[in-house]
Amino acid sequence: MTLHVGVIGTGAIGEDHIRRLTTVITGAKVVAVSDINMDHAKKIAEKYEATCYATGEELIEAPEVDAIVVASWDPSHAHYVLLAIKFRKFVLCEKPLATSAEDCKKIVDAEIAAQKHLVQVGFMRRFDRGYQQLKTIIENGKIGDPLMLHCVHRNPIPGPKHTTEMSIKNSVIHEIDVLRWLLGEDYKTAQVLLPKSSRLAENGLRDPQIVLLETQSGVRIDIESFVNCQYGYDVQCEVVGETGTIRLPDPATAIMRSQGARSYEIFSDWSDRFIEAYDIEFQQWVDAVKQDTVKGPTAWDGYVACITADACTEAREKGTIVPITMPTCPDFYAK
Ligand code: NAP
Repeated sequence: MTLHVGVIGTGAIGEDHIRRLTTVITGAKVVAVSDINMDHAKKIAEKYEATCYATGEELIEAPEVDAIVVASWDPSHAHYVLLAIKFRKFVLCEKPLATSAEDCKKIVDAEIAAQKHLVQVGFMRRFDRGYQQLKTIIENGKIGDPLMLHCVHRNPIPGPKHTTEMSIKNSVIHEIDVLRWLLGEDYKTAQVLLPKSSRLAENGLRDPQIVLLETQSGVRIDIESFVNCQYGYDVQCEVVGETGTIRLPDPATAIMRSQGARSYEIFSDWSDRFIEAYDIEFQQWVDAVKQDTVKGPTAWDGYVACITADACTEAREKGTIVPITMPTCPDFYAK
């Protein structure tokens, strides 16, 4: 059986996921697309021989659509995910699950009421081989207990609508999720430091920012967020443990010796840096949905990440350390 997928949002990542589902992933076909930018959606629909729906709502209701990918802009996610749950359709929603913890909670409540795991959140770093290696080393006790994590998340330039708040809610949210998964524990406090801002940060954007998180067992994490670094897309993570350290590997790339220098390429964006992780994420999602389930990051993971991101925003605005109170994980989501 081929899984018939509808994709809402045909912008940068939506189009990339449509390409991925069509040319890389086995067992799925994109049968429907939708975007408020109808002209672009129509071109994509023509290219991939899919039906173009005028609205995301119509796409979700369409009988030929078995499962949905939400890749529209952040504030529209919650509405589409809730509607997909109402129609008992599987939905892979790009991060963030919603722009507020309240909306994430509505999704969690709706999924629990449906008594079926339907939602997966697009936290694809969990599928990256490098992060998986770190997790295996930590779980095998090879560096003792992790004590500190030093992380970097840099983009060459921000998107046109990027804001100071989005640096955390839309970007650092990847670290918030993957580090929680890596360490297997929730966060206790958040703090945000604002260093001198880059002169290249426009429209009042505060950039860079340093996010400081403390986990419930006391592990300290620092994350540099710098969306204007100019030189490339650069993600780093070092875990310092009791008896050793481990560092996230960069994807393999050729080392060039030329003109008196030894160099290797740094990717320019996320779509190349994490291409393998996205491919694995989507293949596993399709395979799981065809077995009437989902196995990746849950709505609860999306909710907890949003609570943490909200605490970071509050910490930045107040200039204080903000305690994070995590709700008890319902049995429905307990692993
Ligand atoms: P984008 O290029 O701006 O594409 C978003 C598309 O959604 C645009 O065509 C936009 O139309 C459309 N749209 C806006 N509101 C809509 C609505 N209510 N219904 C249907 N379509 C709507 O942005 P992007 O970079 O592809 O990002 C899309 C989503 O993916 C975001 O939530 C982002 O956080 C996420 N993302 C995740 C990753 C990852 O690493 N997992 C990477 C990149 C992006 P207009 O342009 O006319 O507004």
